[in-house]
Amino acid sequence: MKAIYPGSFDPVTNGHLDIIERAARTFDELIVAVAVNKEKQPLFGFEERVELLRETCGHLENVQVDYFNGLTVDYVESKGATVIIRSLRAVSDFEYELQMALTNKRLNDRIETLFMMTSAEYSFLSSSIVKELAELGAPLTGLVPKVVEDRLVAVFKQKRAGGEA
Ligand code: ADP
Repeated sequence: MKAIYPGSFDPVTNGHLDIIERAARTFDELIVAVAVNKEKQPLFGFEERVELLRETCGHLENVQVDYFNGLTVDYVESKGATVIIRSLRAVSDFEYELQMALTNKRLNDRIETLFMMTSAEYSFLSSSIVKELAELGAPLTGLVPKVVEDRLVAVFKQKRAGGEA
């Protein structure tokens, strides 16, 4: 069975990677898909988010990285998949995820959203927290893949120097 893991991934964290690895063990094929117009002000353009995901997922044979515009359910169907993977970290994620899952169900009831629980060690981790830490110059080791850490350090170093990365 083929599943799609959609999200902003701005940028991918070790929490996302943990879900990707576990979903890849559960499904025959997994497509990690960057939603292009979801975040209005992303730190990274979608091409770069895709690139960072590709470098991060290179060791997983049944995982592909892609991006999409428009409705998630339309993208999922266009890929011949029937499952959307999302994940829950805390009760605070529940309301938004329930709303999305029910909306997607209403739009297309052939597609199921399945939720995976975060691993305890990543339950506090989000892309926003990582960006905040990077901006303040805090260490990111263990929170994001090395390529992402290097890229974040470079971006904020450039920003502090007053230019664009
Ligand atoms: P979105 O903007 O679509 O919520 P994100 O990139 O923030 O996209 O997250 C994509 C999915 O990954 C969401 O279901 C989110 O709950 C989940 N997720 C984010 N961070 C973690 C984490 N640390 N552990 C497990 N799941 C996570």
